[in-house]
Amino acid sequence: MVTLQYYYYEYQVTAVAVTLVKCPLCGYEFDEGEHRWKHFLNDHTADDVPSPRSTVSDEREEPA
Ligand SMILES: [Zn+2]
Repeated sequence: MVTLQYYYYEYQVTAVAVTLVKCPLCGYEFDEGEHRWKHFLNDHTADDVPSPRSTVSDEREEPA
């Protein structure tokens, strides 16, 4: 599960942002201003990301 936080703010411009609250791979909770990409770069490799095919069943329905 991916936990996201939605921000809406007005300063010199009005903007919205969506940011990760927890790492979806290990559950690490990010600090508010922490760069998310540094966690993925330093603590994960490409092998940590599940293959999209791993969530797809090999059994396919035959057309009727
Ligand atoms: Zn992680």
